[in-house]
Amino acid sequence: MTGRPYLAIPGPSPVPDRVLNAMHRASPNIYEGEIVEMTRGVVADLKRVACTDQHVAIYIANGHGAWEAAAANMFSRGDKALVVATGRFGIGWGETLRALGVEVALLDFGKSAPADPQRITDALRKDTAHQIKAVLVTHVDTASTARNDLRAIRAAIDAAAHPALYAVDAVATLGCDPLQMDDWGIDVVVGASQKGLMLPPGLAFVWVSDKALAASQSADLSTPYWNWRPRVVGAQFYQYFGGTAPTHHIFGLREALTMLLEEEGLDAAWHRHGRLARSVWAAFDAWAGEPSGIGLNIVEPAHRGHSVTAARIPQGGATRLRRWLEAEAGVTLGIGLGMALPAEPAYDDFLRVAHMGHVNAHMTLGALASMEAGMQALGIPHGAGGVDAAARAFSAAS
Ligand SMILES: *Cc1c(COP(=O)(O)O)cnc(C)c1O
Repeated sequence: MTGRPYLAIPGPSPVPDRVLNAMHRASPNIYEGEIVEMTRGVVADLKRVACTDQHVAIYIANGHGAWEAAAANMFSRGDKALVVATGRFGIGWGETLRALGVEVALLDFGKSAPADPQRITDALRKDTAHQIKAVLVTHVDTASTARNDLRAIRAAIDAAAHPALYAVDAVATLGCDPLQMDDWGIDVVVGASQKGLMLPPGLAFVWVSDKALAASQSADLSTPYWNWRPRVVGAQFYQYFGGTAPTHHIFGLREALTMLLEEEGLDAAWHRHGRLARSVWAAFDAWAGEPSGIGLNIVEPAHRGHSVTAARIPQGGATRLRRWLEAEAGVTLGIGLGMALPAEPAYDDFLRVAHMGHVNAHMTLGALASMEAGMQALGIPHGAGGVDAAARAFSAAS
């Protein structure tokens, strides 16, 4: 395949050449010098990514590692958690908690809608003994692509006057969808390097409020490696990482944070993702014309994430289109995740288009045009004018 392949799956996302180049260098001394200095700036800038003045812990791990890190520091064995699921990833975080010995009350809102904050208030009001130690929410569930209203959920917790910590999985949203940890009263935010932060997989981040840091003193699931306190206070350099620093990831992260925060700016990055998302939705709305059966998984635009879009193309069209795009167009779309089991015929009716991280109009509009070409080539019924609608949506939302 000539030209540049475009991996439009929701993580790992495209890594900028500048980030790869920043990583392409000799190993540094980890005891003194540049990497020690660089890490201080990286930590300060990571706090800007989550809009917090509080704390951040870095782990050599992926998103699952961030889940476990957050859990280990918030809970003791036998504690209760209220887990809000709006797709596959909330369920997964809950499974991690259960495996660690936390008692999970699951509020499952299905695969195509955000959480109803009132039900969170109701669940917390019933917990008059305040046994629930934390409420766990996925900001955008990468399987359903439903986005939760994090401010409304904060208000729902406050309405119950419940002291639980408020923890958010923002793996799919950091750098893409607005998230303001301090202003929105969030205690714990988990993230990973390979999505909106434009790095290869390998780093996990857990942002921690003062309240969560204080509460973690008594969390007995904490182990030496996962304990966030030494990573947060980091008197010795090695303590930031529980051992050897992830040297080349730090070089890459430095470059990615400069691109995101200094050159583009976080507000502009959020705006760019919104614009690209609306272009994708506009294409699908055109393709959805009867009788194609094509449609977005989340009906209400305000409930959709801005970094990835889940959609349905019936009669196995989604899988056929994905395969055609890989073979003919150099575009790799994401599989439908958690909508049906791989053995079920419906599995082939779902796909996801990522527009996450290091992406711009020609990548997203190019992917959409390639999709339309594929639907024509494969004879997949679709409404006309998807590419035109996407171009109009992009140009309108300047
Ligand atoms: C990708 C993702 C995860 C899991 O991250 P891994 O690095 O695959 O472990 C968790 N939550 C959300 C919302 C994600 O998008």
